[in-house]
Amino acid sequence: MSKHGRMDRWPGIIESYREFLPVDEKTPVVTLLEGGTPLIPAPRLAEMIGGNIDLFLKFEGENPTGSFKDRGMTLAISKAKEEGARAVICASTGNTSASTAAYSTRCGLKAYVLIPEGKIALGKMSQALIHQATILQVKGNFDEALSLVKQVAEKYPVTVVNSINPYRLEGQKTAAFEVCDVLGSAPDYHFMPVGNAGNITAHWMGYNEYYKCGKIASLPKMIGLQAAGSAPIVHGRVIKEPHTIATAIRIGNPASWKPALEAAAESKGEINLVTDEEITEAYRMIAKYEGVFCEPASAAGVAGVIKLNKRGHFKKGEVAVCTLTGHGLKDPDFSIGISEKPETIPGGLDSLIQALGF
Ligand SMILES: *Cc1c(COP(=O)(O)O)cnc(C)c1O
Repeated sequence: MSKHGRMDRWPGIIESYREFLPVDEKTPVVTLLEGGTPLIPAPRLAEMIGGNIDLFLKFEGENPTGSFKDRGMTLAISKAKEEGARAVICASTGNTSASTAAYSTRCGLKAYVLIPEGKIALGKMSQALIHQATILQVKGNFDEALSLVKQVAEKYPVTVVNSINPYRLEGQKTAAFEVCDVLGSAPDYHFMPVGNAGNITAHWMGYNEYYKCGKIASLPKMIGLQAAGSAPIVHGRVIKEPHTIATAIRIGNPASWKPALEAAAESKGEINLVTDEEITEAYRMIAKYEGVFCEPASAAGVAGVIKLNKRGHFKKGEVAVCTLTGHGLKDPDFSIGISEKPETIPGGLDSLIQALGF
């Protein structure tokens, strides 16, 4: 209990995991109380998949701007502020721009956001706009936008807050800490979507730090999933024109390519791919069987569980965590687009009773 007589509130990831993060008393903490997201048991989903695993969903959609990007952004923006930056810049498939816009406006930093024209989900665009970021649509894809961002930051006084900023990964590794803190140990598997490959790299860092200081006695196998039309790591080559309905992972030349491969290899996991159909099916199942609404890209991890389970990959009782990276409301066009339209009935009780089938 706090001095105000209520339950102590979650103070955000920097205060919660200060000793593991590159901050000191001089760092101005810019936080929206991100992190502390729920690890939701998913027994019905596990049963429908037909696996005898213990399945958990780490629902990162419950972060302040609706995605895990907030974990990295609180640290990246706090450090930019500490270092005297006046402006930050990022390229984004959407969620990074939403998070950058929110955290920078909160502490009076100017934010510039480059997005691939026409390829960002409605909810994400609405966030960047309302938080007053300067948004520029680039004719080209994410990879081209990121390349431009890097060139600008080399010449002008502006801090890049994409995941090439090392503070982003430092912040994001706290999701692995939270999983261990709740389970009391590391899971056997950690599944997640892979786009620019920063998050899988960050999680592997987090698990290793907890292992080294004795908080966990084993490490999970890291399983990263790319979308079939944007799977440069799986194919071992840059994809010039990546495509997938999972816009958050529509990336053809991931910045953290090498460390992601290392995470998979060292953990005896893998980077695999799932088709848009498999992602969509997983997205529907998560919503239908567990009441959890994530964005399309976020379902790639669960699609990976389904795929590996078909290969008979799991032993009974193994624990698998799937990170659901972002909230379903980010991309309402997608959920409405794949759903049946509601029936319209004439007014009056009789027609209602008939439609209800009573
Ligand atoms: C950023 C993002 C990803 C991809 O994460 P990387 O660190 O780029 O691999 C996946 N899902 C969502 C919802 C995202 O916003």
